[in-house]
Amino acid sequence: CYETGTYSSLRPRIPLPSPDQPLSVAEFCLSIFSSTSTDGATAFAVNANTGRTLTYSQFVSQVRSLAHCLKKRYSISQNDVAFVLCPSSLHVPVIYFALLSLGIIVSPANPLSSKSEIAHQIRLSRPVIAFATSQSSHKIPSLKHGTILLDSPEFLSFLTRSDIDDEITERVKIKQSDMAAVLYSSGTTGRVKGVIMTHRNLIAMMAMIHHYNTIEAAGSNNRPRPVTFFTVPLFHVFGFFSLLGTVLSAETVVLTERFEFTVMLRAIEKYKVTVMPVSPPLVLSFVKSDLTKKYDLSSLQAVGCGGAPLGHEIAQLFNKKFPNVLLLQGYGLTETGGGGATTEGHEEVAQRGTVGRLAENIEAKIVDSVTGESLPPGQRGELWLRGPVVTKGYIGDEKATAETLDSEGWLKTGDICYFDSEGFLYVVDRLKELIKYKAYQVPPAELEQLLHSHPEISDAAVIPYPDEAAGQIPMAYVVRNPPGSSLTEAQVMDFIAQQVAPYKKIRRVAFIDSIPKSAAGKILRRELVNHSTSGGLSR
Ligand code: AMP
Repeated sequence: CYETGTYSSLRPRIPLPSPDQPLSVAEFCLSIFSSTSTDGATAFAVNANTGRTLTYSQFVSQVRSLAHCLKKRYSISQNDVAFVLCPSSLHVPVIYFALLSLGIIVSPANPLSSKSEIAHQIRLSRPVIAFATSQSSHKIPSLKHGTILLDSPEFLSFLTRSDIDDEITERVKIKQSDMAAVLYSSGTTGRVKGVIMTHRNLIAMMAMIHHYNTIEAAGSNNRPRPVTFFTVPLFHVFGFFSLLGTVLSAETVVLTERFEFTVMLRAIEKYKVTVMPVSPPLVLSFVKSDLTKKYDLSSLQAVGCGGAPLGHEIAQLFNKKFPNVLLLQGYGLTETGGGGATTEGHEEVAQRGTVGRLAENIEAKIVDSVTGESLPPGQRGELWLRGPVVTKGYIGDEKATAETLDSEGWLKTGDICYFDSEGFLYVVDRLKELIKYKAYQVPPAELEQLLHSHPEISDAAVIPYPDEAAGQIPMAYVVRNPPGSSLTEAQVMDFIAQQVAPYKKIRRVAFIDSIPKSAAGKILRRELVNHSTSGGLSR
């Protein structure tokens, strides 16, 4: 529906709890969870590598026991931040729910991040405590309450206390407008920032999942209980909200600490996995790999793909190879809690290259980035989004917040998009600097800063370079200093690889005489992108 410059969702409005009602997202999920039948199934979560399980009742009692210990032993206060640096494991949902039910802000990060990347995140969110494994804990600086090691006997004792005060979480009054999580994203420009997710933002996402569960349950009596295999990391918004959603839906979650394609195929067969949130590179692997024929994947009903663009040719090949598996697409950002648009309910359009229609309760504008004018269907411009899932801003960064959110609550996504006349959204390009390597965020500004610190580099710019398997790889344009320097591509790549998480490595280098810049000194990235794929700078 397009009127006075704004597109509103064509989907029914989903009622949300009154904003004044004290409510945490944990309480919202757990109350629906406790009223949902698990059909006699006991496993809430399974570790695909070890086969270890966590039953529903263990999950609930571990959440209570950990919350009790955090409150009594560490006296962590409501609105304090807890940094979580853990690979996917059965402990992660317990930690998330214990923290969220106490009103402690969860800040999950990638355990593969380097020490300096983590130091930057910690400067932003200022946690008082961290959760990590002994493999990642050395990267965390000292915090007020230290770091709890998940592989320590002490942590295990926190999960199984018998003397707990059951009402500890009931006494905490959490406002929906309180911060629930700080997730990391570089947004449209610059270095990584801490995106604030309130309980309200996350409740809005959960209400949407609950809405679809209700529709599906009404539509079929013998729908198998969902079993979800997580290929997406639990620290990224996609994995984060999907994990909260599995508790709300009383699903069984299959987790793996290190993703491996064959482990996943075996797990689909063994645990009769029905649903998988995935990023585009995995859809490609499904299409290309012959290993898929060696396993019984007949339980798989739906694959929900998001986080980065999925080529429509790949979607078509997937549908041809797996005609019984529904391929859904979703579009969203960390700044929208992962919500935005989805093909849910319009399965026939997934092959057209659209990311679907606006999700429930969301409004959009397509804005001409030069004139600021709102554009009608068929015309391309920057997508702006507004709705209950949209972040309040970046923690401790008013400037970046003001650049991204306007006074009417519109979030500038930095994506170039258009709507067709039926309200389907197409993402065609990225106005923002962000590179997505296998759906992971690589902020060019961060790599440029590191390149500038090399004594033999006088200037540098980092851009996305197209890659079939990864979507994009980071490519550096480097100006050598002095011009006769013998600095090689391999040396540049090595220099960066030693300082960043593996997914941020520079994978292609070109040497250049000067970096094209605007009169204001801004890197003309578009020129470099054109140069990298077609050759020749335009000036
Ligand atoms: P993140 O905050 O890591 O989720 O990254 C958000 C960005 O990923 C968006 O602004 C888009 O540029 C990109 N993105 C996410 N989902 C899609 C999709 N389905 N199609 C195209 N781009 C996407």
